[in-house]
Amino acid sequence: MGPGALLDWYAAHHRPLPWRLEVSPWRTLVSELMCQQTRIDTVLPYFARFMAEFPTPEALAESPTERVLELWSGLGYYSRARNLQRAAQAVVAGGGFPRTVEGLRALPGVGPYTAGAIASIAFGVDTPLVDGNVERVLSRWAAEPAPTRAWLWSEAAARVPPGRAADWNQALMELGALVCTPRAPRCDRCPVRADCRGVEAPEAYPARKARKAVPQREAVCGWVQRGEEVLLVRRPEGGRLSGLWELPGREGEGNDAEALAAHLHAALDLRVRRADACGTVKHVFTHLQLHTAVFRVEAEGEPAAAAGAELRWVHLDALDGLALSTLARKTMALARPAARG
Ligand code: SF4
Repeated sequence: MGPGALLDWYAAHHRPLPWRLEVSPWRTLVSELMCQQTRIDTVLPYFARFMAEFPTPEALAESPTERVLELWSGLGYYSRARNLQRAAQAVVAGGGFPRTVEGLRALPGVGPYTAGAIASIAFGVDTPLVDGNVERVLSRWAAEPAPTRAWLWSEAAARVPPGRAADWNQALMELGALVCTPRAPRCDRCPVRADCRGVEAPEAYPARKARKAVPQREAVCGWVQRGEEVLLVRRPEGGRLSGLWELPGREGEGNDAEALAAHLHAALDLRVRRADACGTVKHVFTHLQLHTAVFRVEAEGEPAAAAGAELRWVHLDALDGLALSTLARKTMALARPAARG
């Protein structure tokens, strides 16, 4: 079977996503980084806001990182935002986007998949790409239950029709997203069905790997309010969610009111007079599930951050525009109704 059936299907059925309607290496890079680990529906408003403020690599390269994190706030995996800014700075320093896979790979945060996407989609280079959707489609198409990285990349490369890599790669990904889905694939309307060796038992490909149990961890945080302002602290540079703002608290050393009071005293020199439990927020990170107990706190004293730490009183109406993690938003949502009441 030639490549025509899949390309025809793509031409007729692909979703008119904004980075497909107007293609450039910059738009491809931003969209690919945003779409990693994130649903497209979630990405769309972020992409629009991001492009409105940073229409070029130059605009992002010159922006304060704080502003980049604000626009990324809630999208998760914040290292992507930092890498994107570093990549933009490298593009500006290099006088434009590299046009080869090797050159693109040298940009911060750009792995083989993203390099393949920019090279093929924006520059028309005959090169493959492999993401989760492509992996599933190829595994089923060739009835390969245990595809290795090497197998996937060589299988993907062998199938790229010369001169059509942009549409072909996007067609494979779109087929995986819309038809050859993880559960209940719609083989009856699949353009490659006649050639598919896994069609009799698609869900057997790729074979499921045993899942490791995700470690569980406890945390505690407190909503400290004065007038119309709430106290926030900034996470240190370098670790998880680095540079984002959140309610003061700590992980891994108890999650009751006493643990919170001990932390607020040690870290911010605040004495807790009263702490009312608001509930617990469960949040899943890549390798960790965090259970954060949230308290509304009445405290005495003037908060003082330790050396190197940052704190800030933020007006309640300004919280939405701040660079906050999704976890921080969840904990604030739990505490805030009581604060307003
Ligand atoms: S026929 Fe079914 S299993 Fe094969 S590629 Fe199409 S949707 Fe996937």
